[in-house]
Amino acid sequence: MEDTRQHFVDWLRDAHGAEEQALTMLRGQVGRIENYPALRERMEQHITETEGQAQALKQLLERYDTSNSAIKDMTMKVTAFFQDASGVFAQDEVVKGAMFSYAFENMEIASYRILITTAQQLGDTEAEQVLSRILKEEEAMAQWLLDNLDPLTRSFLSRSEANMDAKR
Ligand code: MG
Ligand code: FE
Repeated sequence: MEDTRQHFVDWLRDAHGAEEQALTMLRGQVGRIENYPALRERMEQHITETEGQAQALKQLLERYDTSNSAIKDMTMKVTAFFQDASGVFAQDEVVKGAMFSYAFENMEIASYRILITTAQQLGDTEAEQVLSRILKEEEAMAQWLLDNLDPLTRSFLSRSEANMDAKR
């Protein structure tokens, strides 16, 4: 059980790092969107949700980790992994951004499913509840992005054809 506990702490730490990174990316993306108000609004909502997630993970970590090394930063790793996919400065920035966001949300979904299983193995029902609540937010965001890829792409293409500002 000690190994399981250690994996759980490691994965919580990774998830916290990913949420911190998500905040940086979401804020960057939202600040650049000009012509797609629905996307902007939904991303603003998810920024608020993500702030709560980071805080909830920090609290879970503090219950497990007595040392002060709980929040090890994996920001750079995540950044390196996703840098090319984010599409910033591309002519189709908003489309690339939505595609990237959908991929990122699904990575989060996988990570919370793994964490929930591990919390169950540890019999930590409080952690399980917190993580399940976060999972629902990630699933809702992923579903919204999936549902909106079609209208977003249509809007982008028609703006582009009309020589309107389409990029963001
Ligand atoms: Mg998240
Ligand atoms: Fe998310």
